[in-house]
Amino acid sequence: MHRAVAAYFPEQPAEQGWAVMADYRGGCHCGAVRLVLRTARAPGDWPLRRCTCSYCVRFGGVYTSDPAGHIELTSRLELRRYRFGQQTADFLSCPACGVYFGAACEVEGAALAVLNVRVLDGVALDLASAQPMDFDAESVATRNARRRRHWTPLVLAEPVE
Ligand SMILES: [Zn+2]
Repeated sequence: MHRAVAAYFPEQPAEQGWAVMADYRGGCHCGAVRLVLRTARAPGDWPLRRCTCSYCVRFGGVYTSDPAGHIELTSRLELRRYRFGQQTADFLSCPACGVYFGAACEVEGAALAVLNVRVLDGVALDLASAQPMDFDAESVATRNARRRRHWTPLVLAEPVE
């Protein structure tokens, strides 16, 4: 049995019709989790950010997001979720092989995520150009507003235990 989390799809501008959206696939190491990032942006135009928080530096996570795209994440196992600090986001990883996918949250009923681009298959990206970000001083309200503007709508399917 799978559950689907309600996803928020911002209206696509006319010039960004589905015809120009492309799928970028990825997943974990053991194969339990597969994902698709659908975006109209070419990989060379993706914003790349690395978070300098105490969790992200341990994984070397490099993130991208596209509020006009979406992420579909499909797991055969219930995902591992980790929270810390202000407890506003789940850091998602595969419960079997431990690969880390990125962070997900819910803002005003919308499921949103940033993707750790290291889990994508064969997308050439200049990871060294990723901008360092420090969000430690943000309030919860500021943080949620930023995520609403910048994070990617998420569709998550995983078994319910
Ligand atoms: Zn795995």
